[in-house]
Amino acid sequence: SSEKIDLLVYGPSKPLVENGFSDQFTLHKYETLPDLERVPAGVAEKIRGIAVTGQVPVNSAMLSKYPNVQIVSSFGVGYDHIDAKYAAEKGIIVTNTPDVLTEEVADVALGLFIATAREFIKADKYVRSGLWLTQGYPLTVGSLRDRKVGMVGMGRIGQAIARRLDASLVPVVYHSRNPAAGVSYQHYPNLVEMAKAVDTLIVITPGGPSTANIVNAEVMQALGPRGIIVNVARGSVIDEPALIQALKSGTILAAGLDVFAQEPKVPDELKAMQNVVLLPHVGSASVVTRNAMDQMVVDNLKLWFGGKPILTPIPETPVKAR
Ligand code: NDP
Repeated sequence: SSEKIDLLVYGPSKPLVENGFSDQFTLHKYETLPDLERVPAGVAEKIRGIAVTGQVPVNSAMLSKYPNVQIVSSFGVGYDHIDAKYAAEKGIIVTNTPDVLTEEVADVALGLFIATAREFIKADKYVRSGLWLTQGYPLTVGSLRDRKVGMVGMGRIGQAIARRLDASLVPVVYHSRNPAAGVSYQHYPNLVEMAKAVDTLIVITPGGPSTANIVNAEVMQALGPRGIIVNVARGSVIDEPALIQALKSGTILAAGLDVFAQEPKVPDELKAMQNVVLLPHVGSASVVTRNAMDQMVVDNLKLWFGGKPILTPIPETPVKAR
């Protein structure tokens, strides 16, 4: 039909999304929550789908302004920025972009672990400063050779990280609420118990209330002075002040962090430390993987409005047979 479908495109500008729709769609682009204040009421009524192109807040107050929205197609696998419960109550489908980023994020997790244990960033600075001309770099206390990793989260990405650890001959166990199907690593229902049994945590759970601060001071204490914590999940999963304290006091050895509590703000205390490696939330941030994610945001919307099965509804908003 010639009927136009009005879509809200909300979040950072993405050429693949902005150019991805036929002229059957009319796009209304707004980058930030304050920008959305400028959406005219008449337009808000017409919006039938929302493309969320980054981690911008999609809460109930925001969603309630679009009474005719059927679907929110969100960029990223994590959707802690979206009120999925509210969407479910209103019968709004939410989709995310899993799988296409799994191996990319797992690469970053393993790289961050090795860079932290073997001090790559410090060692790089050593070469550049010319210190190597006078003496060799000191041996690293950290190594993968004498470690056992406790994965916090053993979903799609957790399993891809564990496979890389298998290849590196590093033993793996994991904590999650329920044992993961088809996984043979030892499962710990209790995170503190697991932390006592390992010396490394790699954190790869979703964010949001159910995981808020689960890696707390007690867990760090249990991990002990050889402890390394790698976080590629969300900053909210780790008690950040407790982590800073544990790194300062030697309660644990080191940390590799891709995510932080108040991104893009990173505490000055962390920036001043030599025993941390800090990345600007780049787990999935390569051109090839981000393109695949952008394309999936577009494809879910096109399929939905084409009356075809969508690719990746989140569990909270299952698609009923139409
Ligand atoms: P999955 O849903 O496949 O896996 C999530 C895992 O976390 C499961 O093992 C789940 O097990 C566990 N989990 C969930 N809630 C809890 C809880 N309250 N306590 C303990 N374990 C819990 O997700 P993915 O592997 O695809 O992605 C995981 C997360 O990684 C994303 O949600 C996102 O936040 C983050 N991420 C970060 C990126 C980055 O750039 N740094 C890029 C991509 C993702 P169970 O339900 O049994 O508890």
